[in-house]
Amino acid sequence: MLELRGKAVAEAHKKILLEKLGALKENNTILSMAIILVGDDKAAAMYAKFMEKTALQIGFGCRRITLPTTATQEEVIGVVQSLNEDPSIHGILPLMPMPSHIHTDAIIDTLAPKKDIDGLTTYNIGRMTCGKPSLVPCTAKACMAILAHYNISVAGKKVVVVGRSQVIGKPVALMVLAQHGTVTICHSRTADLPGTVKDADIVIAAAGKAHMITSDMVKTGAVIIDVGINDLDGTTVGDVDYTNVSKVASAITPVPGGVGSVTTTMMLESVYEAYQLQKAGDIHA
Ligand code: NDP
Repeated sequence: MLELRGKAVAEAHKKILLEKLGALKENNTILSMAIILVGDDKAAAMYAKFMEKTALQIGFGCRRITLPTTATQEEVIGVVQSLNEDPSIHGILPLMPMPSHIHTDAIIDTLAPKKDIDGLTTYNIGRMTCGKPSLVPCTAKACMAILAHYNISVAGKKVVVVGRSQVIGKPVALMVLAQHGTVTICHSRTADLPGTVKDADIVIAAAGKAHMITSDMVKTGAVIIDVGINDLDGTTVGDVDYTNVSKVASAITPVPGGVGSVTTTMMLESVYEAYQLQKAGDIHA
């Protein structure tokens, strides 16, 4: 059984990114991202800190904008608009969840598409759906980067994605489809989840339910990408029962140490891609 460690993937991508940044530095260009945090969600605050640390370590600039829970929708939109127009900021990441009085769809669609480094805007989702180059959700990108790094092709394979969220399930399914996999998307209303997963050559689990994928649901030799991050009695675990599924699978990502270790590097890659798009033309389209 091959353990698909995320660190090796992240390091390989960082190396290439550092070379690109080095070339930009010679022209006195420093890439910068902005993180918008609204309210007091602990997980979002922790992620913001971690993202900022990783960005600074690699040589990116990072501006963290924190607004109180009482911030109005107009105030948040105002922050996004000013970052859109700020030429020193190349990527913007509004962190979720935001307080319930904020309409996050409106915040997201205020983002300039070419600064939308997590591929959340309707514009970028539309482009991805049409198979056109676009900024894409970074966790989905991380899943594909892991498969590519370990030379696991999805072409012609039966790929089952568990979860249909806008940030992981749907985009990763589209990415697999673009690489010629035969995709099935499962969700909470799927009638026969065990039977469907059992048929898969590759399983991408992104449901947010601790250990929901058990060894009896997995075909011998299947490849497992576990996106889930769950707390189980104080321990961080994935959606896959790693201990038992690893006895059946041919390759599997650990949690922690798998997909999560690659996502922040994908985000920084997206800042670089966003910069290239901005250089090529108008930031709004
Ligand atoms: P969401 O809650 O937005 O979506 C979960 C999806 O899983 C939904 O489509 C839901 O179905 C489906 N689902 C839930 N329960 C079941 C079930 N019993 N059977 C089948 N499908 C089910 O979660 P996210 O997509 O945001 O996140 C998924 C997981 O990934 C979480 O654990 C999260 O912490 C983790 N994550 C990991 C990251 C990383 O870098 N590794 C980054 C971001 C998130 P329905 O649509 O019908 O409700």
